[in-house]
Amino acid sequence: MIPVDLRSDTVTRPDERMRSAMATAEVGDDVLDVDPTMRRLEERAADLLGMPAALWVPTGCMGNTIALMAHVGRGDSFLALRDAHVINNELGTPAWLAGGMPQALPELTPEAVRATTLNTGPYYSMRTSLLCLENTYNAGGGTVLPTAEHARLVGVAKELRLTVHLDGARVWNAAVALGVSPAELTAGVDTVQSCLSKGLGAPMGSVVAGTEEFVAEARRIRKMLGGGVRQGGVVAAAGLVALERIEDLAADHDTARALADGLVELGWRVRTPETNIVLAEAPGMTVPAALERLTALNVLAGPMAGLVRFVTHRDVGKAEIDEVLTRIRGTEWGEAGSSSTTARS
Ligand SMILES: *Cc1c(COP(=O)(O)O)cnc(C)c1O
Repeated sequence: MIPVDLRSDTVTRPDERMRSAMATAEVGDDVLDVDPTMRRLEERAADLLGMPAALWVPTGCMGNTIALMAHVGRGDSFLALRDAHVINNELGTPAWLAGGMPQALPELTPEAVRATTLNTGPYYSMRTSLLCLENTYNAGGGTVLPTAEHARLVGVAKELRLTVHLDGARVWNAAVALGVSPAELTAGVDTVQSCLSKGLGAPMGSVVAGTEEFVAEARRIRKMLGGGVRQGGVVAAAGLVALERIEDLAADHDTARALADGLVELGWRVRTPETNIVLAEAPGMTVPAALERLTALNVLAGPMAGLVRFVTHRDVGKAEIDEVLTRIRGTEWGEAGSSSTTARS
């Protein structure tokens, strides 16, 4: 059985066109002065994201860390939704590198932002300096933050004098799902981080974008973190090809829906996907047991938010999704692990 890898959209591999763009990329030394292909990518990304300037970074985590290091100081706190990537999946870096204490929002509403912001206490209280949004929201199952809700949150943040950083690792998916440009989803934010290495298929790289002054500072912080690269044009060329493929993400959203519909027919409990992430629960089975059984079927998925997470991407088409459903259909679910369904975290 051929493996079908739905662990993440990060498993996408550069195709021939991307590899040939990489092979022929014009390069320079981006630490000494400039790599022309990196510069072109940064200009294109800034333009798409509707920001004045952008900086290539090796990973999304580094992009978020740079933004938080630029905005958050010691004695500050920053707000993010409870299971946000910056809280759960970055080893606490924002807290110990940026020097700010994370404060988890129980829900992403203007009321929760207002109630959690600390800026009126005596001198020994923390001061909340930043709100971090995440679109799409990974732990929610790739859910989209619509433009009106985004505007309300940014509005209340400005009123409270909070800087706003958008973790837009999959902002491209959100834009395609909503039928708007990525720039519309950055309205009012100070900075944004977006991945090239996920559904868009580049082997590595993200961008972090903001004002010219922010990017000048971000370049210094990137160097501090060891993220300054020399002939980065080789990978930036892949990023430029990736940015031509934003519209292709609609196909991943279609395959996610097909997978979700098929799983529902097979008795799984499924959250209707808004983008390319499907969170589901196998009938009468714990997440580890379900993942084990899927692995035996050569269907690779992962755990997320107490559920099984499947992520669709450009290397998996409708035919592979049908194949996954056929393999699952031919398998007994429900008896193993039914006694421990309450143990799910
Ligand atoms: C993947 C991801 C990141 C980090 O990207 P890496 O390139 O893996 O470091 C940040 N935020 C969210 C929401 C992500 O999904």
